[in-house]
Formats: sequence, structure tokens, C-alpha cells
Amino acid sequence: MPRVAVIPEPNCPVEIREVPEPQLEENSALLEVELSEVCGTDVYLQQGRLQGVPYPLVPGHVSVGHLSKIRGTLFDVEGREFREGERVTFLDVHRTCNACWYCLVAKATTRCPQRKVYGITYGLDDGLCGGWADQIYLKPGTRCIRLAADPENFMAGGCALPTALHAVERGDIAIGDTLLVLGSGPVGINAIILALMRGALRVLCIGGPNHRLETASDAGASDVLDFEAHPESDRLEWVLERTYGRGADVTIEAAGAPDAVAQAMRFTRDAGRVVVVGQYTDHGETSFNPHLDLNRKHLDVRGCWGSDFSHFYRGVQLVSDPARSASWAKLKTKLSRYGLDEANQALADVKEGRVMKALIEPR
Ligand SMILES: [Zn+2]
Ligand SMILES: [Zn+2]
Repeated sequence: MPRVAVIPEPNCPVEIREVPEPQLEENSALLEVELSEVCGTDVYLQQGRLQGVPYPLVPGHVSVGHLSKIRGTLFDVEGREFREGERVTFLDVHRTCNACWYCLVAKATTRCPQRKVYGITYGLDDGLCGGWADQIYLKPGTRCIRLAADPENFMAGGCALPTALHAVERGDIAIGDTLLVLGSGPVGINAIILALMRGALRVLCIGGPNHRLETASDAGASDVLDFEAHPESDRLEWVLERTYGRGADVTIEAAGAPDAVAQAMRFTRDAGRVVVVGQYTDHGETSFNPHLDLNRKHLDVRGCWGSDFSHFYRGVQLVSDPARSASWAKLKTKLSRYGLDEANQALADVKEGRVMKALIEPR
């Protein structure tokens, strides 16, 4: 019987359970999990910070594995049929309907009310729908992508890769822009890499702890600052010194703390852009001065929620490309692996920022 690592309810430790192998519906598959990710969202899921999450929950929304069983037929977006044994990853977002107002009129499928996410809004009662498990049940309509690349390159990006890709595009970063990234976790690091690919002149990064700032420098940040050692006024000065006194052209908030959003606004130049991507789960409120921080600055502040297939697909293409994948190959050396029964340790290490990226390796 497949083993799964389960969060039974918020604020409870992860426990291992055995569950029956699922009956496959037509045009579905079983994925034998090779690697699954532990990200900040999983820490917050354990803390019960996201609404609409059904517990007990098997976390793990981005995973790589082999198609061990296919019932019916499965095709990729290029129309090629999948075969048993192939290594794939899949979009964690499922069931966006292409029929509702958000899907069709707003073209914002991340806000589709039908949207479900493996490892987040699919619970154990929905089946084997999380990656911290021997196997995942890929329901009909799940979007798989063949992974020709080194699976570790892909997992080094993990869920942060499509999220950061979305954020960088929301920021409309222009060639020659100076970008400021707040936060040096996986989303921040991926944003640095992708912003430089997009043509940013320089990326400044404020984050911590030190080993993450080193990773930010390795990823291409020209200057980094430890936020814990510098109060907000110092940080502002640090940014202004590097931007002719104006502030960053674009700031991406990937820090997670609510007050980072107000700081992102203050650290950005007048008529610049701020993308808020670090508040995927609820960390409470913050305050800002609408006149000074927003209106008079003529600032464009954009939320960026999740990602869709287009971000995921292009992310996989980048990490699969021999030339473009170099940045993630470098990141790969900072992966930490845990067995299924070490999930609590993995969560603790991610929570404390002790590791850059934690992976569950069920076998
Ligand atoms: Zn919809
Ligand atoms: Zn994630």
C-alpha cells in the first residue's frame, strides 16, 4: 500500500499513513514519486494559514516522478502521447474550468472558483493528491510535462520557478531596469535569475540569513543586504545610494512579512512598479500612508497570485535548456533531501531558513 505523509490538522506534526492504491479513472495515471518539494507554503499549511484547505492533507505540490500506470490516454500540450515509465512533472493546479467569468473574461485562471491545487486544496479525502507520498494519483485533466532535463535542476527551481516567472512578468521589467527583490528565499532567488534573463541591468536583494544572501549573489544579485542587521531607514538609504537617490524601478516583494509590502512601496522610485508575491498565505495586516507611499509616488502596485500552465511550461523549458539551465544547476548544489519519515525535520528546517530548498525523496 502507498505510504503518505499527512498533516492531520493545523498545528499537528506530520504522520505517516498507509492508504489503498487508487482505482484509476479513464485518462488518468499513477505517478511514482521521485522527488517532491517542501516550500514555505507547506510550513504555513501546517500552521493553518490558508483558507479552504481540507485536512487531513498530504502536502507536496511540485513533484517529479515516473508514470507507473496509465489508464486510457494522456497527451502533452504538443499532442504527444505519454507512455508508462516516462519521467514527468505536472501542474499542481487542476480543474480550472475555462467556462467561468474569471477564466473567460478576466483571463485570470488563478482566480477560477473551480481551481484545485494538488497538495494544497486537495486533501487526503480527495485521493492520493500530494507529493509527500510513494505515489500520486494524476486525475483526468492533470497537465503533465515530460521532463527531459535533470530532475534536480527542475526541483532546484520548484514551485518558486513559475511563481517568480509570473512575478517578473507582472513587474514588466524593462531592459536596463534596476530591480529590487525583498526576500532571499526560493521565490526571491528565482526572481533574480529570471529578471536578469529578461534584461534587468542589476538586481539588488534585501533578505537573510547570510547563506541565502550568498545564494542570491551566486544567482546574479549585484548587491545584497541582511535585513536583520539593518533597520528600515538603513535599508531605504542603501537602496537610494544604488539608484541615484530615486529607488528601484521595480520591486518584487517575496519576503512574506506584511510590513515588507509597505517597504517595497517606499524603496521603489516614483512612477515605478511593485509586485506583491510573498503574501500567498495570511500573515495579517500592515499600514502605509496612502498619500506618501502610493498616490504622490504615482506607484503601480500589483498582486501576483500563484501561477498558471503558461508559467509552468516556460519554466520547464528554461531548466531543460542546456544554456539557460546553468543558474539552476548551480542552485541544485543547495538542495537538502529528506525521507518521507523525516518530513517534520524538513518542515522545521524550511521554517527556520536553515536550508535553501528541501526535497522529500520517498524512496
Ligand atoms: Zn473557471
Ligand atoms: Zn510551493
